[in-house]
Amino acid sequence: MVTVERKRKNTRPARKILLTGVYGPFGVTCDAAEGNGMQMELLNNQITRQQGIHSPRQFYYTLALYFLAENISIPSTVLDFPTWKAFCKELATGAYTHVGINFIVPNVGKAGRMAQYIRMHHPGIQIIVGGYGAAIPELQRLVPHDAVCKGEGISWLRRYFGDDPEAPVRHPILQNPIEQRLYGYKSVPRSSVLVPGLGCTNGCEFCVTSHHYEKQYVPLLKTGREIFEVCKEAYETRKASGFTIMDENFLKEPTRARELLALMEEAGTPFVFEIFSSAEVVREVGVDFLVRLGVKMVWIGVESRAWTHAKVAGLDLKGMIRELQKNGISVNSSAILFLDHHTPEELAADVEWVLDLGADMTQFMNYTPLPGTALCKRLRKSGQLRAHAEFPYRHHTGAGELNWEHPHIKDGAAHFSILRDAFKAKYEEGGSAVLNMAMTALQGYISARDRLWQCQDEGMAWDAATGRYEKVDQPVADQFLELRIRKSQRIAMNMRGVILTNMVYGPNLRARKKAVKAMGLMVKAFGIPDVKTTATSLALLGMATMEFGRHLRARLKGQETTILQPPTIRRSYDGVQALARVRETMS
Ligand code: SF4
Repeated sequence: MVTVERKRKNTRPARKILLTGVYGPFGVTCDAAEGNGMQMELLNNQITRQQGIHSPRQFYYTLALYFLAENISIPSTVLDFPTWKAFCKELATGAYTHVGINFIVPNVGKAGRMAQYIRMHHPGIQIIVGGYGAAIPELQRLVPHDAVCKGEGISWLRRYFGDDPEAPVRHPILQNPIEQRLYGYKSVPRSSVLVPGLGCTNGCEFCVTSHHYEKQYVPLLKTGREIFEVCKEAYETRKASGFTIMDENFLKEPTRARELLALMEEAGTPFVFEIFSSAEVVREVGVDFLVRLGVKMVWIGVESRAWTHAKVAGLDLKGMIRELQKNGISVNSSAILFLDHHTPEELAADVEWVLDLGADMTQFMNYTPLPGTALCKRLRKSGQLRAHAEFPYRHHTGAGELNWEHPHIKDGAAHFSILRDAFKAKYEEGGSAVLNMAMTALQGYISARDRLWQCQDEGMAWDAATGRYEKVDQPVADQFLELRIRKSQRIAMNMRGVILTNMVYGPNLRARKKAVKAMGLMVKAFGIPDVKTTATSLALLGMATMEFGRHLRARLKGQETTILQPPTIRRSYDGVQALARVRETMS
């Protein structure tokens, strides 16, 4: 009996980790975090901000949590967007030996409250912190913890639990976005997300991603075939045919992208992609390649007209953006406000310059030194960085007052209002992002069709080696281009529904005229809308009217927009699959 008792005492509890993000609600000011700039929505928060009812609403998974859970051999639970109650309830099960908290810098207060709660009520649990917030220098004081997950998290956590860090990475298959709403109409998209790699070698001074991975690129899916296999699995299991590629500069590895295209051509599967790319890489690979690959949206950092980094230096950005749009590729240009040289006049001229580039949508962000970046080090050295005691991390959102002493613009209220007004100007000058994307999609369909006719007339064919259409002696039918055309036609036709709503609710006469023009072009390309299309447009207009009422009520309450909350997601993993992979690589 004594022996049994001793044995029981010596047995270590089975290890199990809770992988969690910080708790909601999000985008609402509370004792631990700010509301402004902290919504859990990329588009409404920082791209289509100020576009009212026209702003698409989407929630995305906290991808790191799912990658970690899929790739460790111990059982785990992912808790994404928990409420405080859900977080406490999960801990109360007593099932966990470890908790991993993933957070960004301005959420450090929430992470700290969670860690303190664990220390007080579950002192046996080991706390691991990770994410960009973990680079904060005073971390132990703000978020009590036992370990910090640094750099690429999968191999770090595998090492921590004694797994093989070099074992193959299993890519989670996730629907992406989790859900979306347009004019109040809620839908579950048939699309997914890919993370082929982490980090970027360009090392822009402010870039937290690049510095987090020490200016190295860490591939997770090393070949085009590996990417294609994930796409295929997502298609077979979730019917996903569109993918957001979360890779800072996906095309910087052109061989991988070329292999992906070749495999899609072989299988006759014209998947479509939304990607991030620096402008110099877009120029290198060429627009024809992007179209053939199926890129329908590209996010390009244009930063500022005075930016001298190689990624934009000497490029005709306006011409590039126009060419991309003409070929059906929407552009999200991202720009930085409050750079060192920005006097009020320079800043206003820079905003004008960005608007003049004519992208479908634009992200404006205040220049924000985050821990771990070269910018943060420079400003600390020059004495311009504001200390946490004076200006707490919760304000380091990039959407409000600067966390450093700007040489020319010192008024904190102006940091907020100039940014907000830049978004407003983009909306008023360029119309809504959804209308712009509809026009770009239509142009894409027309130019792909023209390209096919040109190839047939002039005896041209796609040359994978040169990445161009070239003259050939014996041209054959380009079936893949025909598939692409059908796909781009569907995308353009699906976007028709938004035009009527933009004709009625455009921000001004110019935007409404643009919508009328778009309607005319759609009729020219596809004919007079049939009954179904007309009914869809009218239904969307009706929903938009209700959405307009909701926005009006939010404004009356002093809110800039309606604030939506993502659903809490709880997913269990038994670790068995990962364990099998570890055994496989070790044998
Ligand atoms: S190119 Fe983009 S991702 Fe790469 S370092 Fe610069 S800002 Fe970061």
